[in-house]
Amino acid sequence: MTARILQGATFRDAIYAELRGEIESLRAAGITPGLAAVLVGENPASKIYVRNKIAACAELGLYSEEISPPASIATEELLDTVELLNRREDIDGILVQLPLPPQMDARRVLECVSPEKDVDGFHPTSLGRLVTGRAGLVACTPAGCMEILRRSNIPLAGANAVVIGRSDIVGKPMALLLMHANATVTICHSKTQDLPNVVRGADLVVAAIGRPWMVQPEWIRPGATVIDVGTNFITDLTHAERLLAPFPNRLETFRKKGSVLLGDVHPGAVEVAGAITPVPGGVGLLTIAMLMSNTVKAAMHRRGRGAGIPQAAGTARA
Ligand code: NDP
Repeated sequence: MTARILQGATFRDAIYAELRGEIESLRAAGITPGLAAVLVGENPASKIYVRNKIAACAELGLYSEEISPPASIATEELLDTVELLNRREDIDGILVQLPLPPQMDARRVLECVSPEKDVDGFHPTSLGRLVTGRAGLVACTPAGCMEILRRSNIPLAGANAVVIGRSDIVGKPMALLLMHANATVTICHSKTQDLPNVVRGADLVVAAIGRPWMVQPEWIRPGATVIDVGTNFITDLTHAERLLAPFPNRLETFRKKGSVLLGDVHPGAVEVAGAITPVPGGVGLLTIAMLMSNTVKAAMHRRGRGAGIPQAAGTARA
């Protein structure tokens, strides 16, 4: 069996097409949704992520602004910056790119973002709304995974779903969304006993671990759906040679570029799974699409246009 490849670009394009209609009607009413991206310091990966988010805004005709304080900024000063953005009428969404420099109090900064502008869905109010199945802004990566599943007609009600990873930004919200969609959810983490056996019982596996190719093909139940959230940048030659030895083409790409992006799921899983997201080209594209979607929703909600923020994505009580 070879799995159906769930290409992120297909879903992203469909979401953008829908968003363009909503953005058009907002513009007709004189409203341009606005996103502020706060990028502290010079982290190269963060710079690329923010650049891609700003580019997506430009592509869709959203207003965007990048605020780039130096890594030496004090927490209090950054809180003032966020407060100013909270008060600005033209800004509907605020994202604070993580990770923040180690001396900063990231929790305080994230909690300072007004919940109605919390387009990353990281504020405790947003998480609380998700827990209770109320309308709110949902974290972009898990929301994107749900869009992939919904638009691929993967049945979730009654399915056994295994989420590997329990972070506040991916694993936990993912598990909640799947539970609201009536899946039976198991959450795994670094202390889980006999992970391969737990995964073998899954109709749906979501891997959000941060360990390259950790999930092995023989862990996957034949025909299961696999969502690979992992984004592991490998830059070390020895590490790359060890992992990529059976894949000469990918090793060659590594040698040319000096880096390679690998998911958490071994590529051999494509021979066992029923459907699988690729890395790169899978979940990552949806994360940005859902950020755009959240920005438009926040604008509609704040400016009293239409429903704005719907029921937590995936919520469906049969
Ligand atoms: P975290 O490091 O915050 O969480 C990782 C989770 O994996 C933890 O819960 C940890 O368990 C668990 N874990 C670690 N090792 C093992 C193991 N050996 N067995 C079982 N569980 C393990 O990462 P994030 O949630 O932020 O991100 C996860 C992955 O998703 C990363 O690769 C990240 O880059 C990627 N990502 C991709 C995005 C995208 O847009 N595609 C967006 C966000 C993240 P414990 O809690 O016990 O430590």
